[in-house]
Amino acid sequence: MKAAISEVFTDSRHRLCMWHIMKKLPTKIAGDLLQNSELRALIHRLVWSIHMKPSTFETRWQLLMEEYGLQDHDWLNDMYSIRDQWVPAYFRDIPMCCLMKTTSRCESSNSSFKVNSSSANTLVQFMLCYETRIDNQRYRQRVAEFKTSSSVFMDSTDLAIEKHAFELYTYAIFTEVRKEIYKGKLFCYIVNTEDCDDVCVYYVNQLDKRNNATNTFTVKLELRNQSVSCSCNNFIRIGYLCRHIFCVYRVNKIEKIPAQFVVKRWSRDVLPKSLFSIESRYGVDTRPQAAARSQILEIVTECVDALRSDVGGLSSFVEQIKELKCKLLNGGPVDDEANNDNYVAVELLLGVSLDGDVTLNNPDGIRNKGRGKRR
Ligand SMILES: [Zn+2]
Repeated sequence: MKAAISEVFTDSRHRLCMWHIMKKLPTKIAGDLLQNSELRALIHRLVWSIHMKPSTFETRWQLLMEEYGLQDHDWLNDMYSIRDQWVPAYFRDIPMCCLMKTTSRCESSNSSFKVNSSSANTLVQFMLCYETRIDNQRYRQRVAEFKTSSSVFMDSTDLAIEKHAFELYTYAIFTEVRKEIYKGKLFCYIVNTEDCDDVCVYYVNQLDKRNNATNTFTVKLELRNQSVSCSCNNFIRIGYLCRHIFCVYRVNKIEKIPAQFVVKRWSRDVLPKSLFSIESRYGVDTRPQAAARSQILEIVTECVDALRSDVGGLSSFVEQIKELKCKLLNGGPVDDEANNDNYVAVELLLGVSLDGDVTLNNPDGIRNKGRGKRR
């Protein structure tokens, strides 16, 4: 597989599933050491760390092996010799490397297909199972889309950049970015800066849960275009800015996330609205009236989405739609007369005049079932 991947997928990098490697750990470490949960925890903490540079990983690995007398352990030495194929420290410069560290995505697809199908299925049965599975996936996508389009912004930091993040990202990603903005405000602080002309260098410390300072991170900010990088590599690894950068942005009063740091796959408008139309859900209806109806709904949804946080724009859109509606239904513009027409229509419907004061009295002699005793 390794040979084929390097030949066919020339831009890809072949990696081994670290979950499968770590799963073997207990069976490979024998004797007393197997019972040593501290050793296993230390190895896990070391290999799963995404903040470490390769040189730091190597130093710490050697120290750990020496401490437990494992320098000559065959399996651990073998795994160490291929460390660049499975330890995240070696992938930290690959864009979006954190989205896939194990074969879990492949495994979860396998298992979800297994729920509905079996190896004894005919091809037709398999296709039906496949459709069920895909429908389920589309449903989850629609739920996520609904959450994004219907959620209302509530700030946690009173920073303008948080509102900007809400407007940019899907709801799920926004909640992650909001955490970074919040922690950048409450748990990060600048310990040192270096004066410069174009690029400013900030050294940012972060407090842990016990209010102790952790590692120092280096943030480089180009004031000219707000271009920024951080030694934690969060943006490269996962595609959104880290708390250290938000801390530096706050100090520099930068209130918007620059466009070059908005990854398209996380943005709320990445999928065309037509994908969520009724037509896409229940098959294509080719009748002209169905196509027009679907188009109208798409246009309105697009407009509402574009104006999502512009209260003035939304109110104006409502007025324009009302006007259009009145023209269509009453054949004239919206005015008081039109409203009076509605008033008359209600009177006709109810068969009473709505003029004058109306007095409402409590009904007499009403006894509700199971009303209980009053004290
Ligand atoms: Zn950072």
